[in-house]
Amino acid sequence: KNIRAGIQSVVDGHAGFYLRNVFLPVNACFHTPLTGSPSVKFEIRERKRNHIFEPLFELTGKTRKALNFGSYNYLGFAQNDGPCVEASKVTVEKYGIGMGSSRSEMGSLQLHRDLEKLVAEFLGKEDAATFGMGFITNAGNIPAILGKGCLLISDELNHASIVLGAKLGTANIRTFKHNDMYDLEKKLKKAIIEGQPKTRRPWKKIIVIVEGIYSMEGTISYIPSLIALKQKYKFYIWLDEAHSIGAMGPTGRGVVEYWGSDANEIDIMMGTFSKSFGAHGGYIASTKAVVSHIRRQTHTNYASAMTPGVAMQIYSSLRIIMGRDDRYPNDGQRRIRRLAENTRYFRSELYKRGLVVYGADDSPIVPLIIFTPNQLDIISRTFMHIGIGIVTVGYPATPLLECRLRFCLSAAHTRDMLDYCLHTIDDVSEMFGLAFLKNRPIPP
Ligand code: PMP
Repeated sequence: KNIRAGIQSVVDGHAGFYLRNVFLPVNACFHTPLTGSPSVKFEIRERKRNHIFEPLFELTGKTRKALNFGSYNYLGFAQNDGPCVEASKVTVEKYGIGMGSSRSEMGSLQLHRDLEKLVAEFLGKEDAATFGMGFITNAGNIPAILGKGCLLISDELNHASIVLGAKLGTANIRTFKHNDMYDLEKKLKKAIIEGQPKTRRPWKKIIVIVEGIYSMEGTISYIPSLIALKQKYKFYIWLDEAHSIGAMGPTGRGVVEYWGSDANEIDIMMGTFSKSFGAHGGYIASTKAVVSHIRRQTHTNYASAMTPGVAMQIYSSLRIIMGRDDRYPNDGQRRIRRLAENTRYFRSELYKRGLVVYGADDSPIVPLIIFTPNQLDIISRTFMHIGIGIVTVGYPATPLLECRLRFCLSAAHTRDMLDYCLHTIDDVSEMFGLAFLKNRPIPP
């Protein structure tokens, strides 16, 4: 699929092909020296002795401590010494670990209700419902919103929980090309035209589901264009902000705020607490009518309620983000700013190095494309060996040649940590021949 454009011309005497408008000389893609030069090895040993890094997480088991560039700890609230830990400890002492019941039975605490109110207020919505797991928030609630005669149009790269939710329902499902608003418009036109012989629209409801930030691509969805399409073609928007809530926008309110769009245009705001809030669980924020329909209708009601300690972690981190906690008045803003600065710095350094990086400049998810699937394992082990934990993603999750190393940035990363990671990338890129686009201009 990726070499559809075919082996293209000859540049500087090398054959190559175009991948997303970037010309890749073939020798660069398949240049795969497996061992590093002695000087590189020596440098690595030196750095290891320096211990310039502190662990973000201690990776358990037999592994050593490593800097974590693989987890979704965007605002640093997942640190075990974070400002919310104490509040959660007290809550666990008061209420115990589990609720032992679902929300609709005995599993509702005032804390759950306070959290839901705060989430709704944060997002500018009338009401919100929370769930014990983000995955289930999509998989269990999408079928409750869409029934027979409805059409769901989903971004082709939407998360597995959305795919499962779509499959569990009875709506018709179609996809559009990833983040491609032209293709979405084509699909919408087609969906509307299907009903032309009749006078009324062919679908009871059309709902378009997108994510705020895509966790494998680092792309940010084009909310203003999506809203413009909505006004033209009349459909509902379901926005999954798992990776963007807290992490995007000047006050952490996600991609809608990032683009300066109106939250009222997003019919259903879905998100998870497992990333920016350092906890787990999910939410749906919408109108009172939609939220109470969800509370009554979904199978998720039969799952145990979110545990009290987790609810408190989310509640207290959200209060800090909103600047409501007098003990940490500017801490939320500081974290949001820090994440944005880290993202800009890290990405611009990678661009300078001529590496192929996907995604938007403001996305804290940074996929570095290596083009050599056979090296994925050895590269990730090399990173681990030097003290950097990353996630690698390859076929079938990505097209074969677009396999990637994925760096997730955090407000808890210091500049030293980012520099250490960048030096490590230099070493690894020298070992494995990754930087073959040295003269690529830096995006404006
Ligand atoms: N939606 C998206 C876009 C996700 O990336 C994820 C998980 N990473 C989920 C939903 C599921 O959330 P959780 O892991 O909190 O269950």
